[in-house]
Amino acid sequence: MTRRDLGRLAAAAFAAAAGRNRFQTEIVRLQLRHTWTVATSTSDYRDNLYVRFTAQGVTGIGEGAPLARYRENAREGREALESVREFLEAADPWQFAGIMEEVFRRIQGQYAAKCALDVALMDWVGKKLGIPLYRYFGLDPRRAPLTTYSIGIDTPEVTRQKVREAAEFPVLKIKVGLDTDEVTIQAVRSVTDKPLRVDANEGWKSKEEAVRKIEWLEKQGVELVEQPLPAHMIEESAWVRERVRIPVIADESCRHPEDIPKLAGAFDGVNVKLAKAGGLLAARRMIEMARALGLKVMLGCMIESSVAVTAAAHLSPLVDWADLDGNLLIANDPYRGVRVDRGRLILPEGPGLGLSPASGSGS
Ligand code: MG
Repeated sequence: MTRRDLGRLAAAAFAAAAGRNRFQTEIVRLQLRHTWTVATSTSDYRDNLYVRFTAQGVTGIGEGAPLARYRENAREGREALESVREFLEAADPWQFAGIMEEVFRRIQGQYAAKCALDVALMDWVGKKLGIPLYRYFGLDPRRAPLTTYSIGIDTPEVTRQKVREAAEFPVLKIKVGLDTDEVTIQAVRSVTDKPLRVDANEGWKSKEEAVRKIEWLEKQGVELVEQPLPAHMIEESAWVRERVRIPVIADESCRHPEDIPKLAGAFDGVNVKLAKAGGLLAARRMIEMARALGLKVMLGCMIESSVAVTAAAHLSPLVDWADLDGNLLIANDPYRGVRVDRGRLILPEGPGLGLSPASGSGS
């Protein structure tokens, strides 16, 4: 045991003796199975932020995936949470809603870090109550929707290979938005006739281009399209929506609850993600707002492990479409949680998130 380990043990013993909570942060590098390319970025790994929150003998685990798109990274997210360590160590975790409200007040931005904390607190609450989180939220796990499996942008040969590997998924989500869109869709269609959803990740640059692309995609059996235009082009998106038949969904245009009112009318639905919203509580608020405004709801994820994906899955009975496959895209998932059976999300029955360590993992 090193001096540092001894110091950590002593700090934990002191925290327990003083009746204080134990709060730990860690950055974990998740390795992708395939190089991951979308219209705006390419990567082989992601560094995500993990939180462990221990109080009254129970530990909750949380994860947040920082988005480079929004200038977030794990190191700065961790520093932001460390800035509220004193507050978190002294807080009553049963007041999780008040804790998150205060953390949102004290920390600007850093939504992935807020997500990691929120998920850890909700895992703790579920474990203390001895119930899975879907039950805490009053939801029926049998109503969890099918999830799509996402195919990142690649050569036609690799695209065909990825589609074959996704044989068990009844619906695929295909990433487009570069100048290879038609080649990509033709590669997919050469090996499957499944329904497709398409995500342009802001890749099309004008409303005319978007309409042209979507009209072509409609003929290829595409059932919806996500974020055709850059996030700020809301009026142009409304123009596109009036001219196409399939639903148009906002993702990058829809980060927080306050974004939603201006999207009603310009889009058919919104893609809600825990890492964008800042956790389960904020995501649920977004789902309710979207519903109230007549929008359809997709629940999505980032490249993240079973911690964050399982957290989102516990809310999934509330939504129309799920895209919760981030954990399936990584090679070194430290945990096991939600499972997928022919596209159907199977929520774990254990308390809280219901996670167990992946075999061979020490975490
Ligand atoms: Mg998207």
